[in-house]
Amino acid sequence: ALVVRHRMKSSGKWAQALSILREFEEKCGTPISKLKQVADAMTVEMHAGVASEGGSKLKMIISYIDNLPTGDEKGLFYALDLGGTNFRVLRVHLGGKEHRVVKQEFEEVSIPPHLMTGSSDALFDFIASALAKFVATESDGLHFSPDRQREMGFTFSFPVRQTSISSGTLIKWTKGFSIEMIRLILVGQDVVGELTKAMERVGLDMRVTALVNDTIGTLAGGRYHNPDVVAAVILGTGTNAAYVERAHAIPKWHGLLQFYLNRGTCMEWGNFRSSHLPLTEYDEALDAESLNPGEQISEKIISGMYLGEIVRRVLCRMAEEAAFFWRYCSSKTKNSLYTKVCLYCFHRTPHTSAMYHDTSPDLKIVATKLKDILELLKMRKVIVELCDIVASRGARLSAAGIVGILKKTGRDAVKDGEKQKSVVSLDGGLYEHYTKFRTCMEDTLVEVLGDVSNNIVIEHSNDGSGIGAALLAASHSQYTEADES
Ligand code: BGC
Ligand code: MG
Repeated sequence: ALVVRHRMKSSGKWAQALSILREFEEKCGTPISKLKQVADAMTVEMHAGVASEGGSKLKMIISYIDNLPTGDEKGLFYALDLGGTNFRVLRVHLGGKEHRVVKQEFEEVSIPPHLMTGSSDALFDFIASALAKFVATESDGLHFSPDRQREMGFTFSFPVRQTSISSGTLIKWTKGFSIEMIRLILVGQDVVGELTKAMERVGLDMRVTALVNDTIGTLAGGRYHNPDVVAAVILGTGTNAAYVERAHAIPKWHGLLQFYLNRGTCMEWGNFRSSHLPLTEYDEALDAESLNPGEQISEKIISGMYLGEIVRRVLCRMAEEAAFFWRYCSSKTKNSLYTKVCLYCFHRTPHTSAMYHDTSPDLKIVATKLKDILELLKMRKVIVELCDIVASRGARLSAAGIVGILKKTGRDAVKDGEKQKSVVSLDGGLYEHYTKFRTCMEDTLVEVLGDVSNNIVIEHSNDGSGIGAALLAASHSQYTEADES
């Protein structure tokens, strides 16, 4: 009798868990009509953002890049790519049109947690000394002429108010990087100035000739290989996009511009917000408890830093209200369940991705990811479905964002006789490693654009932002061609 009662109870709970799932699915819905509204709203915000400073949630930061790479770039250049808990240092030997990238080397360094809570000086000292060590490995054959200062492109993947090609102030931290101390110290300061001081402290003679966002770096890296690249999108820990804006379409720059040049414009679309976004109570709670409440709302439903956390929140609700993990949810083990699920399973989106791609009949990967918490196959299936709902919403919304850019630049319609190709460079871990996310995004573009999608090419720009920064360091070098050789 006891067993039977138990079973009945659990099947009622099961139905409840499923209804939480269905309700969530419905709220996350992104039918084509909604995606078109989101794309339109994106276009409207883009117009507002380039019309006046602060005119939109989209920052529409206009870079000072005069020219995107052409392929003629020559020489040895460095890049520093800082955008999350890791940073990379790169050395690129550029051989001009004929030889292109002759050699490229890089090193990845993770930032010790204590430095993320320390001062910006300590953080930059750490980065500068890693850089100095890397410079010391420069091979003999590639020696720099002693009278020539080493030059570097600095990719800093946060919102920066650019003040020149090689200076800018941090507007705010994103992606969980907003550790109080650093936030207090660095926001509003020139990031290049801070880095340069740190390089001086460690005795490294290097000059930052270009400061760029990773989207601008990716745009430059993409352009180097393909002149048809018109936009770049990052889908990784955070998300953002940049595109080439015709200078005459930038009202807030009138008077400032001597030449009508095309400008790489970094949108900061992670901060896009619209009533058309399918937001749920889980997203609202995640936002409220985040380090930057009220900000980066789109980023919080699209990017890798948050997808797993959304899944975890829905699961916790199932555990609480539907006793989804009923066997484990006695008050004694409840806390440990939360901790386990949180720490081992859903804290990082790569797990979500791995679980989603689990095609084994008994969903073994899901089982291992969830350790011993979930032995029931049907529970595992619910989790896979949950991951799918969250990932599809993010992927489809990012496709809508791309459509917004195409509209803004007049590339969303087939013009008579014109076979204009528009190439979009994509980069970031979410795009690169979460196959399902990537295909969903690409399929959605076709769905929304119809025939026009034949003229749109999505290209993976492998590590475009690092190389791109080195290329921009080259094209904005303090030396002229004649100084070479
Ligand atoms: C930042 C952007 C960056 C993006 C991708 C966002 O959190 O605000 O500046 O481009 O992440 O790294
Ligand atoms: Mg990056």
